[in-house]
Amino acid sequence: MKIVFIGSPGSGKGTQARMLASELEIPFISAGDIIRGEINSGTEFGCRALKYTKNGELVPDEIIAEMLLASLPRSFVLDGFPRNISQAILLERTEPDCVFYLYLGISDIVERISKRRICPNCKRVYNLISNPPKTPCICDECGGELISRIDDTEKTARKRMDVYKRETYPLVDYYRKRKMLIEVDGSGSVEDVHHRIMRAVEEIKCKSSC
Ligand code: AMP
Repeated sequence: MKIVFIGSPGSGKGTQARMLASELEIPFISAGDIIRGEINSGTEFGCRALKYTKNGELVPDEIIAEMLLASLPRSFVLDGFPRNISQAILLERTEPDCVFYLYLGISDIVERISKRRICPNCKRVYNLISNPPKTPCICDECGGELISRIDDTEKTARKRMDVYKRETYPLVDYYRKRKMLIEVDGSGSVEDVHHRIMRAVEEIKCKSSC
C-alpha cells in the first residue's frame, strides 16, 4: 500500500504514520526526519535546508522533491510530503492509494507542540504530558537524550501554522475531490487515534477485496 499522511504541525501525523507503518510492516518515510538528518550530518542539502526549517518555512520543492521521490519504496507510509499542491502533483507518479488527514483544534495543537520532545537517535516522539518517557528526558527505546525540535519554539511554530494554512491546507480539498481523503479526528490519546486509523484501514482492505 502507498499511504500518505497530512495534517497541521502538532496534529500527531508523524507519530500515527510511524505506528501504522509498523503495524502494516511497510517502510515509514518522514520528509522532516530526512531533512533533520541531513542538517545534523552537515551535508550540502542540510546546509541549504537549515535556514528554511529554522524559520518555519518550507524547503523549496526542487531541493526536497527529487531526493525524496527517487528513494521511495514500492509500499510506504509517508509523512510530511506533499506539503503543497505542486508536491502533490509530483507525488502522483507514485500512485498513492489514500491520504489520511488528521484534524485537530488549535488549543490542542499549541499544547502538543510546546510539550513535544524527540529522540535524535531513533526519532521516537514523546509528549511530556500525554506520552512521557519512563525516565525523564531519556528515550525508552534507545536511551538517547530527548531534545526539543529546533522549530518548536513559539515564534517558529506560529510561522509553521501560517505556512500550513496557506500552502498545505488546500491539499484537503485537492484529495477530497479525488476521493482519496480519509478524515480522522486527531484528538484524544495516541491509542485512540491509532484505533480510528486502523478501523479506516480495515474498511479500505475490505472494500478492495470485495
Ligand atoms: P515536519 O517534521 O514534517 O514537521 O517538518 C519539519 C520541517 O521540515 C518543516 O517545517 C519544513 O521546513 C521542512 N519540510 C518537511 N517536509 C517538507 C516538504 N515536503 N517540503 C518542504 N519542506 C519540508
